[in-house]
Amino acid sequence: MARLVMKFGGTSVSGIKEIENAAAKIAQEVKRGHEVAVVVSAMAGETNKLIEYCRAVSPLHDAREYDAVVASGENVTAGLVAMALQKRGIQSRSWQGWQVPVICNDAHGKARIEEIRAGEIEKRMKEKEVAVVAGFQGMTPRDRITTLGRGGSDTTAVALAAALRADRCDIYTDVEGVFTTDPHIVPQARKLGRISYEEMLEMASMGAKVLQTRSVEMAMKSRVPVQVLSSFVEETGSDFPGTLVTGEEDIMEKEIVNGITYSEDEAKVTLVKIPDIPGMAAKVFGPLAAANINVDMIVQNISQDGKSTDMTFTLAASDLPRAMEVLKSGSDLKGVEIRSQENVAKISAIGIGMRSHAGVAQTTFKALAEKGINIQIISASEIKISVIVAAEYTELAVRALHAAYGLEKE
Ligand code: ADP
Ligand code: ASP
Ligand code: MG
Repeated sequence: MARLVMKFGGTSVSGIKEIENAAAKIAQEVKRGHEVAVVVSAMAGETNKLIEYCRAVSPLHDAREYDAVVASGENVTAGLVAMALQKRGIQSRSWQGWQVPVICNDAHGKARIEEIRAGEIEKRMKEKEVAVVAGFQGMTPRDRITTLGRGGSDTTAVALAAALRADRCDIYTDVEGVFTTDPHIVPQARKLGRISYEEMLEMASMGAKVLQTRSVEMAMKSRVPVQVLSSFVEETGSDFPGTLVTGEEDIMEKEIVNGITYSEDEAKVTLVKIPDIPGMAAKVFGPLAAANINVDMIVQNISQDGKSTDMTFTLAASDLPRAMEVLKSGSDLKGVEIRSQENVAKISAIGIGMRSHAGVAQTTFKALAEKGINIQIISASEIKISVIVAAEYTELAVRALHAAYGLEKE
C-alpha cells in the first residue's frame, strides 16, 4: 500500500465526461488499497475566462479581489469530483484552500505556500475518506483568498504530497509524460522515462509548462517523487506509464542534452549610452527588484570610449510595461536612452550531461546558423544553454535544436 496524491489538470476535468474518467482512475487506486488525496485544477479555459472578467471590470483591479474571483474555478471541480467519487461508493469530501488550510504569503496573484496543515485530511485518509483539494488557492495569514500563479495546482499537489509524506505525486495531464520538447510543437518528440529534479527545474523555468516551476522546486527540496502521466491512457499512476521526476542518483543514463524548451513570454530592454562608472547596475536593477520584477539574462558591452556603454537584459513580457515605468520615472538614469522590444523568444537546451562535456553550445550555434536564425543574446549555466531569437523563429529554432541534439524518436 502506498500513499498517493493524484492531481488532475484543466483538460483532465474539462467536462463531466472527463471528471467521470478522473474519478474512475482515483477509484482504481483506492481499490488497490492505496491511500489517496486528490488535487484538481479548474475546467480548461475557466481560469482564462475569470481573468478576462477581472480585466473587463478594470485593468487596474485590486489584487485581492482578482484572487477571490480566479480561485473560484477550482471550487467547482473539487465539488464535482467528490460527488463523482461518492457515486462510485467512495467516501469523499472537497476542500477549498482555506479549509485545509493552505497557508500562503500575501503576494496576491503569485503567492507562495508557506505551510499546509494537513492533519485533518490525514486523519480522514486513515478512515478511508478521499480529500479532493481545490488546487491553485490558499489563504493569507489575514484570512484573504490567494492564488499561486498560472499552473499553480501542480504546486498545491506537490506541497500536499510533502505535507502528507506521500510516496508519490502523480500529475495527470493531456500528454503522456515529460517529452524531449513540447510534443504539440514537435511530433517527433520522445517521452522521457525519467528526468532529474535539476533538469526538470531548468525545463520548467525555461518555459516547459507541463509542471509549474515552483512545484519542481518543492519536489526537489522535499524529495517527493513526481510522475507526469496522461489522463487519457488506460493505466493509472501505479502502473508507471509516465515520466518519473526523481533524484539524479536514480538516473542511469545522463544524457548531454535531454530537452529543448521555448518561452515566448520574453522581452528585451536596452539601455543605450549608460555611463561606464561604478554603481550603474545597482541603479538599474535596484528599483526593478524593489518593484518585484525579475530580470533574466544581462549583457553589458565593453565601453568603446571609456565613458559610456550599452546594457541589455531580458524579462517576462508581462512585466515590461511596469519595468519601463520604473526605469523611466522611478530610477536615476538621466540621459540614458531606454529601448524595449517584445517579439523575442528564449530557446534553451538542457541536460545534466553538459557538466562533463565540452563544446555542447556549438551544436546550438551551428544548428541555428544553418537555418539562418540570428542569435541576439546567449547565456549558459552548468546544465543549460539559452539563446534569444526573434519570436517568429521560435518553432523553427526548437525543431532545429531538437534534431541537432539527436532527440527525435527512432
Ligand atoms: P494541465 O492543464 O494538465 O496542467 P498544462 O497545459 O499546464 O496541463 O501542461 C501540459 C502541456 O505542457 C502539454 O499539453 C504540452 O503542450 C506542454 N509542454 C511543454 N513542454 C513540454 C514537454 N517538454 N513535455 C510535455 N509537455 C510539454
Ligand atoms: N487553473 C489554474 C490555471 O489555469 C491553475 C492550474 O491549472 O494549475 O493557471
Ligand atoms: Mg498546468
